[in-house]
Amino acid sequence: MIVVLSKGITSHDKELVRIYLRDRGFAVRDQQFGEDEVIGASGKGVTDLRELALLPGVERVAATSKPYELASRETRAEDSIVTVGGTGTGVPQVKIGGSRITVIAGPCAVESREQIRETAERVRESGAVLLRGGAYKPRSSPYAFQGLGMKGLEYMKEAGETCGMPIVTEVVSPEFVVDMKDLTDMFQIGARNMQNFELLKKVGALGKPVLLKRGPSATIEEWLLSAEYLLAAGTRDVVLCERGIRTFETYTRNTLDISAIPVVKGLSHLPVIVDPSHAVGIRAKVSSAALAAIAAGADGLTVEVHPHPDDALSDGPQSLYPEQFEKLMRDIEALAPVVGKELLRTPHTAAAEKTITPVNASAISINTGIAFNGESGAFAEQALMRVFGEEAKRTQVQSFKGIFDAVLEGSAAAGIVPVENSLTGSIHENYDLFLRYPDIAIVGEVKLRIVHCLIGDERATLDSIAIVRSHPQGFAQCREFLDKHPLWVLEASNDTAGAVVSIAREGAVKVAAIAGEAAARAHGLKVIKEGIETNPLNYTRFLVISRKAAADDNFDRIAVNGGSFGSERSNKASLVFSVPDKPGSLFACLQIMADQGINLSKLESRPIQGKPWEYQFYADVSIPEKDGGFAAAMENLKKHTEDFHFLGAYRGSL
Ligand code: PEP
Ligand code: MN
Repeated sequence: MIVVLSKGITSHDKELVRIYLRDRGFAVRDQQFGEDEVIGASGKGVTDLRELALLPGVERVAATSKPYELASRETRAEDSIVTVGGTGTGVPQVKIGGSRITVIAGPCAVESREQIRETAERVRESGAVLLRGGAYKPRSSPYAFQGLGMKGLEYMKEAGETCGMPIVTEVVSPEFVVDMKDLTDMFQIGARNMQNFELLKKVGALGKPVLLKRGPSATIEEWLLSAEYLLAAGTRDVVLCERGIRTFETYTRNTLDISAIPVVKGLSHLPVIVDPSHAVGIRAKVSSAALAAIAAGADGLTVEVHPHPDDALSDGPQSLYPEQFEKLMRDIEALAPVVGKELLRTPHTAAAEKTITPVNASAISINTGIAFNGESGAFAEQALMRVFGEEAKRTQVQSFKGIFDAVLEGSAAAGIVPVENSLTGSIHENYDLFLRYPDIAIVGEVKLRIVHCLIGDERATLDSIAIVRSHPQGFAQCREFLDKHPLWVLEASNDTAGAVVSIAREGAVKVAAIAGEAAARAHGLKVIKEGIETNPLNYTRFLVISRKAAADDNFDRIAVNGGSFGSERSNKASLVFSVPDKPGSLFACLQIMADQGINLSKLESRPIQGKPWEYQFYADVSIPEKDGGFAAAMENLKKHTEDFHFLGAYRGSL
């Protein structure tokens, strides 16, 4: 059991809590758990938990049924996000856990300065955000290459700094911990050392992030108890790594325990990643195992990649060629949305940890607040976290127009606006808002897989329900499911999570909501049925909006400058225009785009408000890599249209 203490607890009250527990037969210990100060109580004591929770200075009590208390989900329901690198280390900050997939890559061992540098460059190019490599290698044979030691670590740190990647390296003995601590961003505890408790205590006490591999014959419980050693010693940043266990099978090096991933994610709040290289041991099979791990819910991977695997000094046969790694990353990018995640490709730079600099807008401070429509747990909030991170301050508004107003007035630095759903089409209200707010620009895009759930009170069942609440989009996306229950009365709400909030408030068993699982979790309700959207390929496209930056809000100026349109990273733009009422006028516009190699990913016509039977076109277009012609094409387009609005240039998401 752990007792979480309130921030301002006095030492007197703290002592009273200790005495209370000791008097009831517990052994007590003081611990730090993330930001929280806690008292851990173990042994055969008995107490009334409600009475304990009422003691002065006690914030909450987590009674765990598991021997690993700090690692258990019973202690912390939300996923832990581990941060590696960042502040003061000269490398960007990389996060592991939550809705991102984080990929660590590099050679088995650091072999030379050139080799680690070349590998770092290649894997970074393909999208790896952390660099791995062993400087001290635990080898089965004493005659095998044992690693370059501290020299290797120095080469690796240099390569990481050059390529903007924090580094992860294995520490094999407690005696090396102190020397290594300033050179590595994350310690790896290898499979063979998972139960080296003295090593765990020493590494955990440093408070640095740790990657804890599962021992080749360790049970899940033993693995989590080793994580507990690290957490109890003082670090809060522990990532678990499944790397295959020893079974009777000999065709693979180990047996990848895929089932451990969902099991551990249920038992613990810690991120879980997978090492398919050591699990499988055969290069040609590594990528399949890696994709299976992502599908099973892993938060990331650590993959061995070598520029010349045939010459590798260790684990060459399981190391991917850089080209194979590139292909794997592309496949992960395509798979990620299916499991509701996104591949992390661009970590924040250390200097901009608290700001995001999107294409074509000034830096957005996540401390000012990002506006979204709805209650916590809304899909828009998930999209927001995907773009700006979990720590971003949120500004909740109660309408789509409210998002534009908050951004325009400056009470929010940016906003998240849903514009299109893959099942139900465009959300026209928001497209129209873009025209009414000419000082707002689109600066980014994110696509989110939408899995709808029927959510209700703990006692509610399909039979007890008479009324269902949701946003009209929620109803539209679950049409087929709702058609099977024709007697249900549908009540529209401002947002899907808002419907959940109303039920949580009323506690009625006859009312249910259609919303995402996150909303059920945020407001303590039950998922009665999961996955009720008409088709599982259900995605909503959100746009990130911001005030037009003074420097680049003028399309004419940018166009005149020719070539330097937006930023070199923007590859997509959105426009609204109308054309003269004569034959071939739309064709002429399309011809201008075709001539410049501008691809049209969306073209939709909309009635012009106040002008019956006249239409304007909404278009999403690609910005070709050599964008010299793009600005000129936009200029030309302007001449051929009656009304032309450039809504923004941004980086499109997959
Ligand atoms: C490694 O990652 O290089 C390694 C030695 O892994 P493991 O401890 O899983 O065998
Ligand atoms: Mn290896």
